[in-house]
Amino acid sequence: MKTLIKDALIITMNKQGTIEQGNLLVEDDRISYLGPDQPEADRVISGRDKLLIPGLVQTHVHLPQALFRGQADDLELLAWLKERIWPLEGAHDPESVYYSAMLGLSELILGGTTSIVDMETVHHTGAALEAIRESGIRAICGKAMMDYGDDIPASLKESTEQSLQQSVDLLEKWHCRENGRIQYAFTPRFVLSCSETLLKEIVALSTAYKVRIHSHASENKSEIELVESKKGMKNIHYLDHLGLASPRLILAHCIWVDDAELAVLKDQQVKVAHCPASNVKLASGLAPVPQMLERGISVSLGADGAPCNNNLDIFQEMRLAALIQKPLHGPTAMPAREVFRMATMGGAEAMGLDEEIGSIEAGKKADLALVSMAGVHANPVSAADPYSLLVYALRSSDVEMTMVEGRILMENRALKTIEQERIIKTSNLLIMKLRERAGIA
Ligand SMILES: [Zn+2]
Repeated sequence: MKTLIKDALIITMNKQGTIEQGNLLVEDDRISYLGPDQPEADRVISGRDKLLIPGLVQTHVHLPQALFRGQADDLELLAWLKERIWPLEGAHDPESVYYSAMLGLSELILGGTTSIVDMETVHHTGAALEAIRESGIRAICGKAMMDYGDDIPASLKESTEQSLQQSVDLLEKWHCRENGRIQYAFTPRFVLSCSETLLKEIVALSTAYKVRIHSHASENKSEIELVESKKGMKNIHYLDHLGLASPRLILAHCIWVDDAELAVLKDQQVKVAHCPASNVKLASGLAPVPQMLERGISVSLGADGAPCNNNLDIFQEMRLAALIQKPLHGPTAMPAREVFRMATMGGAEAMGLDEEIGSIEAGKKADLALVSMAGVHANPVSAADPYSLLVYALRSSDVEMTMVEGRILMENRALKTIEQERIIKTSNLLIMKLRERAGIA
């Protein structure tokens, strides 16, 4: 199957970071040609007055929380987790995990996101992986691991042994499935919910299986104070001390980190997933992203969960990532092109897939999004910088086509792999049942 996307303004994000006006040919799952010629194709898509961009990458989302949108507003992190999120996660069954994933995936694909790093809940992760498989999105996914800590509801408690065994079982079933489109990762929730034995075993297993580790760290002041009082060292130092800090570790947030911790993130090549909307909504703080980028730390973007955002829209994350730093660091901080790089190549690096995705180059996987510039809110475009358009003016609803591995997952705002109406209807029924099971009045 050959697809030609004609006459688009192509934001390649390749090493030169160039912009090209031209045509792109997709052959099966890969980009095979980029340039002025018009090779023969089975299908032709017009890119006129549109931006063709690398598929957007979100390196921190929680699909099982998509059903909890609007259920936990205006709370601080630890109260948010203990009063709302954990009871709701504990009430999940395979059906609700599946539909939650499908709801989240629908929103992600409609907004041009082609790759995600997803932290699931403790149980029923197989149902989410099945939704990921059906949707066609690229994902690194793992079940949340939490074998320790106060106030964890009985419905989410697991022994160290169970946590490891279930993770390994899921890994052996799902890792590298669908031509490598789905990968498994070990996902310890955060230091406060994991025993030291669990974290050490995760290091050994992730090394043996050569898979990634995805966790949260230093999101909130109370959290880092608790970690320091329990472990006798700062959060990032503790992770490093156990051997977790490595190029395979994707850490969400990293807001409350000092210079010495930033040095560890840099030296160990840890990948930071920055979640600006979640960080300001939970009043967690502002991550020192300009300092991270200056040190050469790899930073990418994620929407986190629907109940702390409340959407999974990377266009809003890009805009916020730029805007929230400017009052502190001045208007030249976080220029649009750098922010767009975080949402593409930055994410690809975090996933360990920078040779395959994150930029538009012949030979790479055809993970792409086509974005309309026709909206009133985007115009005039005739003299506009495309990076400025993408970060500051365009919206997820401007995405007209989303493609993963050459397969169109959404075209003209219609999902191709997911029945949108059924997912919305079922989600509305399931959240009522979940609230009842979780004892939320
Ligand atoms: Zn999170």
